[in-house]
Amino acid sequence: MVFIEYVKTRTIMTKTDQGKRWFGIDYHMNLYRGCSYGCIYCDSRSDTYHIKNFDVIRSKVDVLKILEEELSTKSYKGVVSFGTLSDPYNEQEEKYKITRGALELIKKYGFGVSIDTKSDLILRDIELLQEIQKNNSVIIKISITTADDKLAKFLEPNVISSSKRFEVLKTLRKNDIYAGVLMTPVLPFVTDNEDNIRKIVKKASDSNANFIYTKMGMTLRSNVHDYYYKNIDKLYVGLSNDYKTVYGNNVVCNPLKYPDLLEFFVKECNKYHLLCDMGEIIKDYKRKVKLNEQISLF
Ligand code: SF4
Repeated sequence: MVFIEYVKTRTIMTKTDQGKRWFGIDYHMNLYRGCSYGCIYCDSRSDTYHIKNFDVIRSKVDVLKILEEELSTKSYKGVVSFGTLSDPYNEQEEKYKITRGALELIKKYGFGVSIDTKSDLILRDIELLQEIQKNNSVIIKISITTADDKLAKFLEPNVISSSKRFEVLKTLRKNDIYAGVLMTPVLPFVTDNEDNIRKIVKKASDSNANFIYTKMGMTLRSNVHDYYYKNIDKLYVGLSNDYKTVYGNNVVCNPLKYPDLLEFFVKECNKYHLLCDMGEIIKDYKRKVKLNEQISLF
């Protein structure tokens, strides 16, 4: 179901726990709640996040007004993460321009930005991202789980194909935006194979990605189990039984050949000189700002 509702809130931005810094972000926020892209493995469907009717997109009353108040009073101009629980370029963003409005505020107050998306709508905001990147750090993660467009259509039914997502990445890089691939989740028995990993790393390199990152596994929390099993059984009849046998009620489901696949992944990345270590990626995308700061001291 695709329409927008508004919910009340008092805060938009949350300071990130320094011990759990995902891509070196300092603040995170979700301008939207819910997502209509329909990925069958989506962790945000979990009861943990208390988002009822997940396929309905909601935003918050006065979202940009509250965000501006928060940005204008924070002294530390860190990196703000958009969309960990919902794609910030969902099907309603073209009309409502809430993500775009937030980027304009980020630019106005001199913050950095970290965006996860599967949508080509991000190309609309290239000029804004370039402006933000002049004064602070920008990192864009294009989420790609399979190199196979047919499989992607099944796993992520309302999203553009993987091939198109690589094109988006290529365009971002041509415009000098720091961007790479987020290869997560990696689904046991479905995408956890060397052929898929080899193809994704190669295509990331062909798209001139700055990095590729994976956690090589998936999470299956409470009610996400049922949604995922119902769908994955349509693709491979009875596969949910293999999941139940191997993982039981585990939340973290790593591929059976986890260490071997991770080693293979790192080897492939090294072959193309692609960054794949979280610490190195953070250092690299924040380097530009440090260089600018040093230059301005002289
Ligand atoms: S795009 Fe992200 S938030 Fe939306 S359904 Fe897919 S995994 Fe979930």
